[in-house]
Amino acid sequence: MSRGAQAGDLVPLVLATGNADKVAELRLLLGHRYEVRPRPADLAETVEDGETLEANAEKKAREVVDHTGQLAVADDTGLFVDALDGRPGVRTGRFAGPDATYDENIDRLLADLAHLDDPAARRAEFRTVIVARWPDGRQIVVDGVVAGWICQQRRGTAGFGYDPVFVPLEGDGRSFAEMALEEKNQLSHRARAIDELLVELTGASS
Ligand code: IMP
Repeated sequence: MSRGAQAGDLVPLVLATGNADKVAELRLLLGHRYEVRPRPADLAETVEDGETLEANAEKKAREVVDHTGQLAVADDTGLFVDALDGRPGVRTGRFAGPDATYDENIDRLLADLAHLDDPAARRAEFRTVIVARWPDGRQIVVDGVVAGWICQQRRGTAGFGYDPVFVPLEGDGRSFAEMALEEKNQLSHRARAIDELLVELTGASS
């Protein structure tokens, strides 16, 4: 905080997530300018029934704005696999079923790609969309993408989700789960979307 600035000078910004890791990450990046708050505990979960990441992120942001009357930020992420015509895409978190675990989702993905050996045939990308929405209806939409391929077996234990089977093309051949968080953040879809959000928020009046 700059000299003389008061905590009360910071603009409230409410996240659509209550996930402690995401809240901490965004607080680190936006905390100099915004009073970053987690999703209100009394707000019911958003039903993510959109056909696109944008639709789901916008729905989440809109529900938070309507509930709080404050600037809201929501994100949605998908894994798009070329050989599966872009699946799991918007259904990435529930690929193997509505309550699927990370392991079950990976097992389904590896099974669906089992007939393909060549890394080029196993191409995929992660995409994160972030929507920031103000109470007056103004909104900005940004995204971040990382291209890679799905390896045949799990590699590494770091990270979460599909990290053990996602190998970014810009890396050195290791999966995301074989990288330290700082290394993953140099490349990741979410880090890129957040960078873009910072640029756009700086250009927007709050
Ligand atoms: P969400 O929109 O951030 O909840 O992400 C949806 C799903 O995508 C998660 O349940 C994970 O399975 C997967 N996912 C999102 N981000 C990552 C990542 O950085 N690495 C691996 N999987 C991810």
